[in-house]
Formats: sequence, C-alpha cells, structure tokens
Amino acid sequence: MMLKCYDCMQEAKENEAVSVCIVCGKGLCMEHVKVLEVPMKGGTYPLPHKMLKKGLPRMVCQECVDTILGPGFCV
Ligand SMILES: [Zn+2]
Ligand SMILES: [Zn+2]
Repeated sequence: MMLKCYDCMQEAKENEAVSVCIVCGKGLCMEHVKVLEVPMKGGTYPLPHKMLKKGLPRMVCQECVDTILGPGFCV
C-alpha cells in the first residue's frame, strides 16, 4: 500500500508520499515535506528525543513547523 500525501489530499490532489512527518505522522510528498536543520542544543528541543537520531533528516509537515516551532523558523 502506497502512502499518499495528506496535504495534497486536502487540496483534492493525489501524490505519493516520499516521507512522513515525524511529529504527526502524516504522509508528505516532495512538495509538502519540510526538512528541518535544527542545531542540537541541550534540552530545549521541542520534539521527542528518540525520534531525533543524529544525522537523520527531520521531516515535518508545514503545519507542525508552524505550530511547534513557530512561524519564520528555518525550512
Ligand atoms: Zn503534497
Ligand atoms: Zn506534521
């Protein structure tokens, strides 16, 4: 079963997801996925720690970027 991009479905489009948001878990296509470049500073990072294996890309959806990290955060 192929995962579809959730954000595309909201726009009545259908795209294959290339990744999932590590925060809410919904599927995301290349167009909608956001890759965070987050400096690993001690203790203040808002996401669950075990999901943040060093060296792995941190894929999140736009919604989670906005709600968790705030507008204007680097994407
Ligand atoms: Zn999409
Ligand atoms: Zn999300």
